[in-house]
Amino acid sequence: MLNLTRQMIEIRNILLNVNGATDLRLPSIVVIGSQSSGKSSVLESIVGQEFLPKGSNMVTRRPIELTLVNDPSSASEIAEFPALKMFNMTDFQQVQKVLVDLNLAVPHDEAVSADPIQLTIKSPKVPDLSLVDLPGYIQVEAADQPTTLKTKIREVCDKYLEEPNIILAISAADVDLANSAALRAARRADPRGERTIGIITKLDLVEPDVARGMLTNKKYPLKMGYVGVITKIPKSTSIFQRKTGVQAFIAQQNTERMFFRENKDVFSGLSVGTKLLKKKLIRVLERSMSNALRPMQQQVLNELEETSYKFKVEFNDRDLTCEKYMAQTIDNLKMEIKEFSEKFGRPELKSLLRSELDQKVLDLLALRYWNKSEPYIKKNPAISDYEFEEPQISELSNAKNDETFWHRKLDLSTANLTKIGVGRLSTTLVTEAILTEIDVLINSTDLRNNDMIKQAIKEAAISVLNQRYNSTADQVENCIKPFKYEIEVEDREWSLSRKHSILLLNEELREVQVAYDVIKKTVGGNKLKQIMTYIENENNSVGQTIERENLGFSPGLILRGREAIFLKDRLAILNLRLKGLQSSTCKHKENKFKCPEIFLDVVAEKLTQTAILFLNVELLSDFYYSFPRELEKRLGTKLTTEEIENYAKQDPKVKRHIELQERKELLELALSKIDDVMAIQKRL
Ligand code: GDP
Repeated sequence: MLNLTRQMIEIRNILLNVNGATDLRLPSIVVIGSQSSGKSSVLESIVGQEFLPKGSNMVTRRPIELTLVNDPSSASEIAEFPALKMFNMTDFQQVQKVLVDLNLAVPHDEAVSADPIQLTIKSPKVPDLSLVDLPGYIQVEAADQPTTLKTKIREVCDKYLEEPNIILAISAADVDLANSAALRAARRADPRGERTIGIITKLDLVEPDVARGMLTNKKYPLKMGYVGVITKIPKSTSIFQRKTGVQAFIAQQNTERMFFRENKDVFSGLSVGTKLLKKKLIRVLERSMSNALRPMQQQVLNELEETSYKFKVEFNDRDLTCEKYMAQTIDNLKMEIKEFSEKFGRPELKSLLRSELDQKVLDLLALRYWNKSEPYIKKNPAISDYEFEEPQISELSNAKNDETFWHRKLDLSTANLTKIGVGRLSTTLVTEAILTEIDVLINSTDLRNNDMIKQAIKEAAISVLNQRYNSTADQVENCIKPFKYEIEVEDREWSLSRKHSILLLNEELREVQVAYDVIKKTVGGNKLKQIMTYIENENNSVGQTIERENLGFSPGLILRGREAIFLKDRLAILNLRLKGLQSSTCKHKENKFKCPEIFLDVVAEKLTQTAILFLNVELLSDFYYSFPRELEKRLGTKLTTEEIENYAKQDPKVKRHIELQERKELLELALSKIDDVMAIQKRL
């Protein structure tokens, strides 16, 4: 029989979790009593543990829904707050502290919260019961509270006092029953006294005859009668020292038993003692739950049909849970990564690295061969990394006829290129490109709205890339090492690089032209000419003591003028060099000293080819292999259920889908359990 009650309590708790189904309630026992009536003592004597918040100003501010589970397998009492994910608590002082904290979290000016605290206590000693300790209903109502708050408190409590719940109305024997606030409240909710059990506490404080009078109450008759208890040992008792914990409850039981034994005649035929109270509660709860079960079956069935219909219409019966949604997300991400891997492979690596090295080559050329004006260098901070090792001249075509000079110059330039740290440079380049692409990828999906998931994906990518970064950079650097000593060029390579150099210089030429045109357009053609002439004259007169007229050009305009002069010079040099490259001299690799653009291009190509071999295998392929696995690990297993739920329910449609499905599943579960219990009842 006990087992059936437990199953019905389980059904009750399942139905409690069905959103918005306030009428799907199986009965519970609701405990009310004014302050000091002994309400906590009664509840604690049923549980056999002290766990409720104490103190005169400790008013309960939230209902406590207490589920007691008789569990013969557990060694001692275990408490759980399922909503807080706190399980297996054996320290009841800790339980008390959690309850105090939860109550105090309700702001004083709100007085009560309708949101119940769910507490489960499992023990071999407790009966299967479902009890609700109501917020300081009566005491708060009696206290000096604004009417609005009183109304609120009443609303929270009245809901619990409604049918089919059983009311446990607690009154102390040393207070006249006519003044019992608990009985008054119970009568309001249950005028015919059909669902109320009267509890008279502190029987030891009154004469046994007076106590008997209360228990046989004719004035306030209750169908389920009254039970008299002694739930606390009077402190003055010298035989029993003040005890704590389980000892205190054993002592309490002994005192109570002795008291009723001593007054056997007075209390004969009456319901007295906490032991009997427990039995009565089990019986009453089981009976009322059984009675409620059949109508509940029909109600649950109706609710289930409606929910199933909605689920079919809105979501075509498609199965979705938070975990499944997360799994789908991971799958989608994996697909996206696969697509990305097809778009970003060796050719893309090559062009990425090549264009970076092209830029370095252009910078080097500007620095060592085409340089003349400072602003260009300033505009390219990368150049400042290079060392200046010799005086610079501007034009190869005007070069001194000094072969060693040009040989040395090309050697130095080549060394500058091969020693820029291609290993780190290329590895960083690829790593950053991948991270940028991952960002783009995330931002093209719904994941962009979830910072936590976004962060997890980024961290997964960074961790995979980090694992490989150093070894890849070292490998690449090692493999390009031979180029630091010797570069052999084949005719075919020379001719390809020649074409490429011409393209590159043409592109540079175009860009310089565009930059020049922009200045011309913003400043105005004539004005620009004037400024440029002015600056050139100024430059030419350096050292002369001629006072020149300031033509009223602002410092900004002078700066633009300088830029324009620089660009004009660069255009001239580029045109000159393009002619050089196209000339027959530059057709032959033997003339490499006169065609540094082509030779450096060959070097850049060789560096690129070698580097990408390793970058592709060591970094990129490894990333495509490891990243999805790392994602699976971080998103699939490392996140808490709550984090996954928060993620899934961020999308309102997904939220509705999941909640509707959860509702359906809970109702199905409840219904199958109701069917089981009813089948057993039929057999009994
Ligand atoms: P609550 O405020 O209604 O929860 O009441 P408590 O359970 O905290 O009890 C109020 C006071 O009454 C405490 O000091 C208890 O020790 C005392 N008390 C409770 N039950 C009994 C009892 O059966 N006999 C005696 N003498 N005192 C009791």
